[in-house]
Amino acid sequence: MTYNQKIDELIDSWKDEMYGTLKGWVAINSVRGEAQDGAPFGPEPRRALDLALSDAEGMGFAVRNVDGYAGDVTLNEGGEAVMGILAHLDIVPAGDGWTHDPFDCYMKDGRVYGRGTQDDKGPAVAALYAMRAVREAGVPLRDTVRLILGTDEESGSGCLRHYKAKMPTPDYGFSPDADYPLINIEKGGISIEIGAVSEGEAGALIPVYAMHAGQRTNIVPGTAYAEVGTENVSVDQMKQTLSDLPAEDKPYRIEVTDLGGGRARIEAFGVQAHASLPHLGLNSIGLLMKALKRLGAGGGIRPAVEAVAEKFGTEGDGLSAGIKTDDAECGPLTCNMGLLRFDGRNMKIVLDIRWPLATNAQTMLGQMAVALTRTPLSIKCNGYRGVHYVSPEHKVVKGLLEVYHDVSGLPAYPIAIGGGTYSSMMPNTVAFGICFPGDVDTCHMPDEYVDWEKFVLSAKIFAHAIERLAGA
Ligand SMILES: [Zn+2]
Repeated sequence: MTYNQKIDELIDSWKDEMYGTLKGWVAINSVRGEAQDGAPFGPEPRRALDLALSDAEGMGFAVRNVDGYAGDVTLNEGGEAVMGILAHLDIVPAGDGWTHDPFDCYMKDGRVYGRGTQDDKGPAVAALYAMRAVREAGVPLRDTVRLILGTDEESGSGCLRHYKAKMPTPDYGFSPDADYPLINIEKGGISIEIGAVSEGEAGALIPVYAMHAGQRTNIVPGTAYAEVGTENVSVDQMKQTLSDLPAEDKPYRIEVTDLGGGRARIEAFGVQAHASLPHLGLNSIGLLMKALKRLGAGGGIRPAVEAVAEKFGTEGDGLSAGIKTDDAECGPLTCNMGLLRFDGRNMKIVLDIRWPLATNAQTMLGQMAVALTRTPLSIKCNGYRGVHYVSPEHKVVKGLLEVYHDVSGLPAYPIAIGGGTYSSMMPNTVAFGICFPGDVDTCHMPDEYVDWEKFVLSAKIFAHAIERLAGA
């Protein structure tokens, strides 16, 4: 019998036990809370960490609690190199719409339901049992294998930053917190604030008193509105003018509502989408700006409104802002206007830009400055992160894809995404599972679940991956 056959047999024999472990971990509502002594992200994430480490210890692994921020579980300490497996024990709030108690794991029609079953307690349990199977199958190891369990991935990953500051960084590895086959490239990200100041709206044909859209920059906002004055142009006249907007500038829907007292509200409806996939949405801020431009709205803010309509509009690729680019590895740059605020004096728009290897932050800021030269728009960089790239020739990418194909029988290929997984915080680390192509991604949704057979398959994939990459 080969090691991998032995591994598969062991994992199959532990199905009930794995289910019990997952049930225990899911039962803890480990949403971030108020910091307490020894519990930097609140008592529940800390409780989840304690339980996971005591379960691992019960299996005979060496464990460490790193100041309540994170913990690790080690197999074969003192190996040549360290293979890291990164997972997290915190969750997003359960929210409404659940059929059953989200913290009482239950199985129905081959699916295991519960908050965290897919993101990311389930993958953490699968990784732990994979390590156990490797050990009990007697696989000889060259490298150390370290399962690193964070407790704050959903609110900024301060857990992993603390871990990196206190503990040696693994040499290579994977994080089962996204999709199969494997994500080896995550675009860089930059947050840019576009600003403008109105000298006042007095004397304008249609004064603009306020504008608003968006709550989070990583979303293409589906609605945006402006509050305007109706002293000189009636609501009906505005509706008339907006009815013959050119087709490409036409919102999905636009509403002008008389608020009384000489004010009206203009609301543009686009299509909401994730900021990394702007082509799937229609940016309501761009639509609103084009509508206001068409109306000739704004006093002191009018040149800024026109500039935003012209330089950003409903483009998602940064073309008119001067930053459009793409490359074969990563695909195109994406540029999303995520937030709009205007209080009658100061206008602020926050951009979420994801960039490929072909450019960088300094280049983009320079290009945008040139494109916006003759506009009243100011540019401020709020911060950025570089492209996370693990070469398709790296042994991690090659080895994991081979294992994935061997165990699942599915086509294996690396993919690039807009960015933001746990794996980008560690070198030579890729995102690997546990959502299979075609699976319903129920992360952060009501009735989150994992398909149980696929979950068991993932445990086998992880174990074979350890054997392939860390084996002697
Ligand atoms: Zn996650």
